[in-house]
Amino acid sequence: MTDQSTTLQHIPHWVDGQEYAGTGGNHGEVTNPATGTVTATVAFADAADAAHVIAAANDAAPAWANTSVTRRTQIVFRFRELVNERKEELAALITAEHGKVLSDALGEVARGLEVVEFACGIGHLLKGGYSEDVSSGVDVHSKRQPLGVIGLISPFNFPAMVPMWFFPIAIAAGNAVVLKPSEKDPSASLWLARIWKEAGLPDGVFNVLQGDKVAVDALLDSPVVKAISFVGSTPIARYVYERATQNGKRVQALGGAKNHMVVLPDADLDLAADQAVSAGYGSAGERCMAISVLVAVGPIADELIAKIVERAHTLRIGDGTRGTDMGPLVTRVHRDKVASYIEAGESAGAKLVVDGRETQANGAEDGFWLGPTLLDQVTPEMSVYTDEIFGPVLSIVRAQSYDEAVELINANPYGNGVAIFTNSGGAARKFEHDVEVGMIGINVPIPVPMSYYSFGGWKASLFGDTHAYGIEGVHFFTRGKVVTSRWPDPAAAPTGGLELAFPKNH
Ligand code: NAD
Repeated sequence: MTDQSTTLQHIPHWVDGQEYAGTGGNHGEVTNPATGTVTATVAFADAADAAHVIAAANDAAPAWANTSVTRRTQIVFRFRELVNERKEELAALITAEHGKVLSDALGEVARGLEVVEFACGIGHLLKGGYSEDVSSGVDVHSKRQPLGVIGLISPFNFPAMVPMWFFPIAIAAGNAVVLKPSEKDPSASLWLARIWKEAGLPDGVFNVLQGDKVAVDALLDSPVVKAISFVGSTPIARYVYERATQNGKRVQALGGAKNHMVVLPDADLDLAADQAVSAGYGSAGERCMAISVLVAVGPIADELIAKIVERAHTLRIGDGTRGTDMGPLVTRVHRDKVASYIEAGESAGAKLVVDGRETQANGAEDGFWLGPTLLDQVTPEMSVYTDEIFGPVLSIVRAQSYDEAVELINANPYGNGVAIFTNSGGAARKFEHDVEVGMIGINVPIPVPMSYYSFGGWKASLFGDTHAYGIEGVHFFTRGKVVTSRWPDPAAAPTGGLELAFPKNH
């Protein structure tokens, strides 16, 4: 611990409706990426802290599961109202720890709120089926019940929205939750916890466990935790999936991405250039649905690149609180790693068209700045193509034909999002059929599904069978029961006698 950190704000866990400092004393540092200064310390759970938080959730779960659907809905609705009223506070916390510009932080909150709004319809979503007289005097109905304690593990890039993909539905369906947020931007989770309390959620139903791998492993190994929703990089998603499923849990683990945007020769190139810039450089490229590869098909590449360059130079880079378009990267280490990809791309033979390392930012000297970068003549064996860079680096791959573009996409190990820009309905229709990707945009660069559909990629972008939110989310956080019942008609003559064969229906 540095001397400075003794005076810093400390970000604790949240358990049983209140802050919890933990017993171990381990902690990490939280930095404002726009200034480079450490602004807080955050508690890092040890095994005992994790056990305490998980036990609190387990204690709260049965009463919450038995709370009426109407009451649960009212609390979720109130939570929605409170977050919406105070979303500027939440956005400011996100910008201060993540670095994204305020308007983008507000956008993240808005997308998260859409899932809360969806969860307000939980009464409808939990309805079972009923079949009368399936056999003589026999009826069948189905119901869905909560699982108990759910572990949520989230990444740094959406500290509010990604947890909100999961906990509104998990809680509305009657589960208790332990959220392990990213240690890089942990304040949003505590803010949300306080709002849940104010909305009237019983203590222990929503808990926050701060920390690193120790906290994650405790969730993966605890027999009390019945399901894990994870979002993060592919190696950790694979690890989480394997370890938690070995422990008998239900798991959805969303991983990394390498999203392509195909531009066909008949596309509106101004629209394509606008969208490539916003989807490539928005949130400094730190989005799992960011476009990182633009596949220019046929003769349009030079014209399209010129339009992108023109737009990239108009972006204002700087502190996200100052009305800029793009903020810093999340940490210095990450900024330097992204910069190293630019060097690797250049030395592998890519043509550096816009160099973000030269960008002058409107912000503090020690901020983690890297401006929009454009590399042309990228080929599939270069590390800028093979790796998820997670920064404002857009690579242009030139393809001769539509078929070559689709082969490239389908050969890629990731399958999160993809987009095609074209004015041909037939080409778009063929593309949405042909690509092995979970979320597809047609003249839409970041096709994040609405809350009543489900979010999820294919291949190395998702481990598990269930996508996030929507009806798949409702199913993930509940388990089904089917009840077969026979109630004899009291007025009818008694039936009886042994019968070992299947029932005869008449
Ligand atoms: P990350 O994998 O480093 O961390 C994610 C979570 O796992 C964090 O809570 C972290 O504390 C924890 N963690 C890190 N290392 C661990 C380990 N060794 N063992 C156990 N837990 C560990 O990811 P990140 O850098 O925070 O987020 C960026 C990544 O998330 C990118 O790869 C991005 O594509 C991905 N992402 C994917 C989606 C999606 O929907 N598919 C959405 C957002 C982000």
